[in-house]
Amino acid sequence: MELRKCKNCGAFINSEADFCTTCANTLSYNNTILKGYFDGTTASLDSISTVSSHTGVSPSIVENYMVNNNMVDSSTLEKTSFANLPY
Ligand SMILES: [Zn+2]
Repeated sequence: MELRKCKNCGAFINSEADFCTTCANTLSYNNTILKGYFDGTTASLDSISTVSSHTGVSPSIVENYMVNNNMVDSSTLEKTSFANLPY
């Protein structure tokens, strides 16, 4: 059986999930916050850093959310990526 690692924290997981239970719960909660933030506003025009500072959600999670919801073009992310910055 293939050993999988949580995509967020790197913990080993033994299910088909991409994330461990802890991270899955955190991401689910953050996605709820982001959904509430973007719903009914023009906030999709905000930059990732702006959304992050307004919601308290880490930039990498905001970025993933916006990519998954086609709110940003992934080709534009190179200059806005926070992946290498500690947060
Ligand atoms: Zn994890």
